[in-house]
Amino acid sequence: MQYLAWLFRIEYLMRIPLLPLTIVLVVLAGLVLLMSQPETRLAPVWAIAAGAAADTAAEPASNLSGVAELQPTAAAPTFTIAEGNRPYVPILMYHYVRYVDKGSDPLGFSLSVTPEQLTAQLDWLQRNGYETVRMDVVGACIGGAGPCPARAVALTFDDGYMDAYTTALPLLQRYGFTATFYIVSDFVGRPGYMGWNELAALRDAGMEIGAHSVSHPDLTTLDLNGLRDQVGRSRDVLAANLGIPIVSFCYPGGKFNDTVAAVTQESGFLSATTTMQEGPQNDLFRLPRLRIYGDMSQPGFEASIRAYMP
Ligand SMILES: [Zn+2]
Repeated sequence: MQYLAWLFRIEYLMRIPLLPLTIVLVVLAGLVLLMSQPETRLAPVWAIAAGAAADTAAEPASNLSGVAELQPTAAAPTFTIAEGNRPYVPILMYHYVRYVDKGSDPLGFSLSVTPEQLTAQLDWLQRNGYETVRMDVVGACIGGAGPCPARAVALTFDDGYMDAYTTALPLLQRYGFTATFYIVSDFVGRPGYMGWNELAALRDAGMEIGAHSVSHPDLTTLDLNGLRDQVGRSRDVLAANLGIPIVSFCYPGGKFNDTVAAVTQESGFLSATTTMQEGPQNDLFRLPRLRIYGDMSQPGFEASIRAYMP
């Protein structure tokens, strides 16, 4: 009997006009959802999440939010550039300009931009009024002791790979830009690295040659003599072979400590760059740089520059 009573109740419920009620509820829910969307929202939630999870796919110039594009390859700066620290000169860090297969060489891929990526980046910088300054004048530029373009940016290329000469140099010249090339003095002329002729060509094209140690060790592990040798001799060898003063240094692997910074300064360099992604530019021997990754999209590149200099 209980079972029959239950069935009866179901039968009774089924007579309520469920279909029209459902339609009304769905329409109401839809309206609530629509009204809750901010007008500024540019991309569906799933797209932002996908962008944040992996910025790997070659994204077209889409309307994804800049923040999503920046992750995980380049976080927007989280410090505030104090008025006293202006002008701020974004210092961009490059290594290779070449094609690399991401699957077989993920590290090489992340250290490389393609010629097309670099072209698009330089093109955008030029169209938006950015002017390049070499590292030998960045200190004066920041400190107000020398001329400094309103929208100054410094381009740096580490390690002295041959594609700096074959690929980066012609692109820089096309846009009338200069850059600083940090050279490991013992690596000059090795397979895959520029020789003295290529370095002389960079010099003659108005590029700056900076030092990046003698053999690219972790400078924080060396005793004082070893440290002075790596810093001072790299400068002396480059200066002697190229006939120019070498005044800009870059810590190999970004590794430095107070002693390394002090020895670099005592050796007569004007500045030293690190691999710190962000920070104030109030110490010329601890200058942060913005790493330009192989999988950085063009909107991501633009957003990270704009974060420093809107
Ligand atoms: Zn290096």
